[in-house]
Amino acid sequence: MKRNADDKTKLSHLGRSPHDYHGAVNPPVYHTSTVLRKTAAEFMDSRRHRFDKGHLFYGRMGTPTHFALEEAVAEIEGGYGALLVPSGLAAIAVAILSQAQAGDHILVADTVYTPNRSFCDGFLARMGVETTYYDPMLGADIAELFRDNTKLVFVESPGSVTFEVQDIPAIAGAARQAGIAVVMDNSWATPLHFKSIAQGVDISIHAATKFIVGHSDAMLGIVIAADEALYRRIRETDGALGMAVGPDDAFLGLRGLRSLAVRVQRHYENGLALASWLAEHPLVERVMYPPLPGDPGHDLWKRDFTGGCGLFGVVLREAPGKAGFGALMDELDYFGIGASWGGYESLIMPTKPEASRTATEWNAPGRTFRIHCGLEDAQDLIGDLEAGLDRLATHLKKTGG
Ligand SMILES: *Cc1c(COP(=O)(O)O)cnc(C)c1O
Repeated sequence: MKRNADDKTKLSHLGRSPHDYHGAVNPPVYHTSTVLRKTAAEFMDSRRHRFDKGHLFYGRMGTPTHFALEEAVAEIEGGYGALLVPSGLAAIAVAILSQAQAGDHILVADTVYTPNRSFCDGFLARMGVETTYYDPMLGADIAELFRDNTKLVFVESPGSVTFEVQDIPAIAGAARQAGIAVVMDNSWATPLHFKSIAQGVDISIHAATKFIVGHSDAMLGIVIAADEALYRRIRETDGALGMAVGPDDAFLGLRGLRSLAVRVQRHYENGLALASWLAEHPLVERVMYPPLPGDPGHDLWKRDFTGGCGLFGVVLREAPGKAGFGALMDELDYFGIGASWGGYESLIMPTKPEASRTATEWNAPGRTFRIHCGLEDAQDLIGDLEAGLDRLATHLKKTGG
């Protein structure tokens, strides 16, 4: 593999070496706990290297199936190494725990994935780590929130549910000067469209459950470290917690990764088509989608990202209650009602940004919902939404809402 090969080429070729496996195109799925050594000396040597990248010591710490996906994602994201964990939330937890201990303070963007907040407010608080949520619009001014014991800044861009774009290079610059680590949830952009490490991030995580697995059939997280020291801290933290990913799930992640570029491109095209259409709809106040010109995050997004996906939020002009959301969503043909995203199938769900922010206020005239555009035909999806919005309009007229 040439170092300067395009990501699309890398997706097809990284993480496999067929001729080590009798010519089989894909690495085999290693089902093993025990790994035998021929001599006591070999065993002791292997144990000493148990946290080395790509070293097989014991099933819990990963097998060649895991290493293949880790190597491929680390290379595309631009990091030293990566580690698979059982979910995106586990990736968040391991990344934070690798940096923070009792008595420390961390800064977390007010717009992060809600279970991330629950981890900070519950588990971390009990362990003696204090969290301050900050306005995601802060750039270099985040330095004003740094304390002597601040160890980490957590960024997520665009933010969950409301899709604010953060100025990551500015935040990373300020953090670097103060010796504070920057951890990023980069799930929206995938390793393809935001090069987190090059933009100054120390540790990047992905909910691989979403676009990397890509078929809504496995839970998986991945943590990418900028350098070897961070990588070892992450592996030791993960090792202490005893987290292990089944080899079949690692294989599904690797299988998903091969088609990531074409899938995400289609998600993105559908996202642009649906978001532009929705933005013009009379019931819609605005669409929260940085790739749309006019979105508050559009300029930063254009500066720092090389593409997008099909996940965005919608603010309605009105505030339909449960029955209103039912009118909009219950009869849709192609949108499943459910959490998560990144699969081939379109999804829709009501959201509630006001319920999960404390540093900033959420002011919108109406209620919000989120759409994940799947791989279906854009016109079919638009037709489906149009019918749903017609049902909502009829409902609002009837109820005077
Ligand atoms: C879903 C999600 C996660 C968590 O991933 P799981 O694999 O479901 O644990 C983390 N961050 C973001 C932004 C997500 O949307």
